[in-house]
Amino acid sequence: MVIGDCLVEAVSYLREAGDDTAFLDARALICHVLDCDMLYLTVHRDELMDDKAAQLFRDLINRRGTGEPVAQLVRHKEFMSIDFYVDERVLVPRPDTEHLAEYALEFCQGRKAPRVLDLCTGSGALAVSIAHYAPHSRVFAADISDGALEICAKNAKKNSAEVTVFRMDVLTELATHDQTYDLIVSNPPYIEHDVIASLDKDVAMFEPHLALDGGEDGLDFYRVLAKECPLLLSDGGSLAFEVGIGQADSVAEMMRESFCDIEIRKDYAGIERVVYGIKKASD
Ligand code: GLN
Repeated sequence: MVIGDCLVEAVSYLREAGDDTAFLDARALICHVLDCDMLYLTVHRDELMDDKAAQLFRDLINRRGTGEPVAQLVRHKEFMSIDFYVDERVLVPRPDTEHLAEYALEFCQGRKAPRVLDLCTGSGALAVSIAHYAPHSRVFAADISDGALEICAKNAKKNSAEVTVFRMDVLTELATHDQTYDLIVSNPPYIEHDVIASLDKDVAMFEPHLALDGGEDGLDFYRVLAKECPLLLSDGGSLAFEVGIGQADSVAEMMRESFCDIEIRKDYAGIERVVYGIKKASD
């Protein structure tokens, strides 16, 4: 079968399986199999696919049909124009999170050697992009999951970024952590526990629930971080979060006791996505 026909067949299969991005997904998967870019597909529609490649492509399309995310199938995802390795042990980096990365980079700009901590780092999307674009900073990344730490370290190495990773159960161990930072960023698990099962099947069935579950009201991590982070921040230090839909006001409220200049930024969909503030000066 030629490339063009394989694609047509795959797109119609994926559409029927309920994939809203069937065309895009099929092209991404065939590029992965053929190790080529999208332009190659357009120019070589009539090129024959050998049996091995065709079979591999069909296997990937079948898996995509069950809801497995493309990024997990091809084992990488772009974030902040950097290529990240991902697998089923971490959440696939989302474009929404780039707004938090941008705030972090603004904060680091003009500071001499800011110490930055990324809590619940997962794939290391935030930590690695900060270390990459603000190489004058010293970046630390923590997670409870050993798999995530392994992937974060791999992504740092892959992108020649310097990130120190360490294991931490943020909910119980943050209070006893004895280091100081200028900026703490976090995209913690923030989905309400009971809502997880009803999320898109790509997310609910294939992404780690540990990275999604924010407790009964989704806000467990924000409560702990808003309370404990001031002790870990230097004077003028900042705490910055990604938040889920409808959570920004509650999170800003939690920060009011110890933080000033609290601001909320929207993502490109107009959703309040980032909440940050500066630690109040101690009297
Ligand atoms: N943004 C993710 C989602 O909607 C959740 C990320 C998180 O819990 N931090 O699936």
